[in-house]
This record gives sequence, C-alpha cells and structure tokens, in this order.
Amino acid sequence: MLLMIPGPVHLHERIQLAMAKPMIGHRTKDFSEILEYCTEMLKKLFGTKHDVFIISGSGTAGMEAAIACFSKVKRITCIDNGKFGDRLGKIAERYTEVDVVRFEWGKSIELDEVEKSLAEGSEALAFVHNETSTGILNPARELAKIAKKYDALVIMDGITSVGGDYVAMDEWGVDVAIVGSQKCIGAPPGLCAVAVNDRAWEFYNEKCPFYLDLKAYKKKLEDWQTPYTPAVSLFFALQEALKIIEEEGLENRIRRHRELSAFVRKWVEEAGLELFPELNEYSQYSNTVTAIKMPEGITDKELRGELKEKYGILISGGQEHLKGKIFRIGTMGNVTIRDVVTTLACIERILVKRGIIKPVLGEIEA
Ligand SMILES: *Cc1c(COP(=O)(O)O)cnc(C)c1O
Repeated sequence: MLLMIPGPVHLHERIQLAMAKPMIGHRTKDFSEILEYCTEMLKKLFGTKHDVFIISGSGTAGMEAAIACFSKVKRITCIDNGKFGDRLGKIAERYTEVDVVRFEWGKSIELDEVEKSLAEGSEALAFVHNETSTGILNPARELAKIAKKYDALVIMDGITSVGGDYVAMDEWGVDVAIVGSQKCIGAPPGLCAVAVNDRAWEFYNEKCPFYLDLKAYKKKLEDWQTPYTPAVSLFFALQEALKIIEEEGLENRIRRHRELSAFVRKWVEEAGLELFPELNEYSQYSNTVTAIKMPEGITDKELRGELKEKYGILISGGQEHLKGKIFRIGTMGNVTIRDVVTTLACIERILVKRGIIKPVLGEIEA
C-alpha cells in the first residue's frame, strides 16, 4: 500500500529497520546520545535555540502539553479554521477561559478578528500553522506579530509544517510549538516534540497533567534523560529519520515538499478540478497536503475505494462535515516525484474512465 495520506507517511526502509534494533536500557549513555542528537536536530527544524522536549505520545499529547503547561492566563484565543484548530480550543477549555475565533473550514484567517480578540484581554494565542484538514498554510509570522503587540504568549501547532516547510520560531516570535513524528519528519507515529522558549515559563501552570508536565522533562534533559520510560524503538526510528533529513539538507527537503505540492496543484488546475482552500492575501496553499473538491460524477467512496482496492494507494477524505466533499493528498515526509506521479496517474485513470476529466498528467513538467 502506498501511503499518500497526511500522516502516517510511508517509512523509508532505513527507518523501518532502525526499529528492529535490540532493546537498550533507557537510563544509559546509549539512550542519552540518541536523545541529544534528536533534540539538537529538532531545534534546527523548529528554528529555535531554546528547549525542545520529546514526549512519547502522538501529536495531540504535544498539543495538550503545550497548552496545559502554559495555561496560567486569564483567557486564551484559539483560532479555528479547521479540525486541528478546533481541537486546540477543545483542549484549552479544560485549563482556562477560551475565546474561539472561528472561520468556516477552508477559509482563511482574518487577522483583524484575531486582533479584536487579543485586544479584549486574551493573554495567549494558539493557532495551527499548516491546517492539515483543509490544506491551508496559515500566516504564522503575521499572527505572532499581532500577539506580540498585546504581549500575548504564542502557541503554534506545527505538526505538519516542521520538517517539511519553513519554520522559524525564534525569528517569528512563537513561544511554544509542536511537531509530531509521523508527518513531515517521516518517522512512525508515537512521538511528538514541544519547543519552548524562556518566556513561556512565565505562564507555567503547575496543575498541568502529570505525564505531560514539561518542567519534569526540562529537569531530566539536563542529564539527557526523559522523566519516564520513553518509547525506545520509536527513538531509534526518529534518530534515523532525522539523519535522513540531515543528509538531504533541510533547505533541499523544504524545496522538495514545495515542488511536489506545486506539482499536485498544477495537475488539479490542468485537469479542471478545484482546490478547496479559499486564500486571502496572508494565507497560502499548504506545501505538505493538498485538499481538492470532490468533482461531480463520483463519490468519495468510489474514488478512494477504487484507488485503494485496484491500485493500492491510500489518500484521505474530508473530516467531519467535509466528509465526501473533499479528498486530500499528502506530499510529506520522504515522498518522491515517483510516488506523486503514480498517485495522480491512478486518480486520473479513475476520473477519465467516468468522463469527469481529460488526461493531462503527461503534459505537466516535473
Ligand atoms: C495530525 C495532526 C495533529 C494530531 O496529531 P496526532 O498524532 O493524530 O495526535 C494535530 N495537528 C495537526 C495539524 C495534524 O496534522
């Protein structure tokens, strides 16, 4: 099965094999060396010189750690223009008062509405950088800039941008950011990392969940250790995934993600299909996942079903109320032009057979 969903992604053989290594004790120098390498590499991906804490848990554990640990605020503004923005708000509600600034899923963030919420007294802002559910790249730099005007803490879900697209936490003024292992980094699911600058600790809430208390992670990291038993085999895999990123070079990797998603968008345009996101002057199409409107004449079940059953390729549908209305193609991790062309060729065959589009893939330059 070729995985072309926005995480988990297809595993490079080297990463798969890394997980088969014999177990090691986690309170050893061997493990500390892996943790140190992974932490230092992740700092480069986040664009930060500050702390990075790796948690054994999926991306959502990182979202909860980021919000819960730094929730000593009167009110937090959470931006919801997709499923993961919605999730940020739902997590935040458990820890403090929340003002959700909502936009229809697929629409862009209007900066003045965010500013209004901050001006009304929110002390923190949480948003998703790359909204995986709708294929939009939200304007992180501009959002952080507005938050700074009001001295608000900035928390960014970078789960599908870090390691695949340009992220510069320190330069943008993002205080806390999150990444998951199974998206752009190309490792298996089960690990996440939270990057935290010094300022964030002014907002530290000691009533955060015990397992996700980043203060414990910070203390243990002084000895290159984790507070509890980490998912050691997943760390083997993460280390290998980060070595692959180091060998490719982060700039090259970001360029590859951009070129592959641009190729998908070009095909959509040439085929006469429609991209789902509605952009404004601040937002962009995602460089790691493309959301496409489901054309007339075929159902989600038929398209994704035939792609999976006949061709062995998995893509994603829409989530929640977008189910059946869009389909999404991931171009993240160690994905290649071969994977993308194969996927589009098979989708094209399915759509051409039904007379929905004409073949165009052969015309598009890679
Ligand atoms: C996948 C994803 C998450 C959730 O991560 P899990 O690993 O499924 O917990 C959060 N935010 C974004 C933007 C994502 O793409």
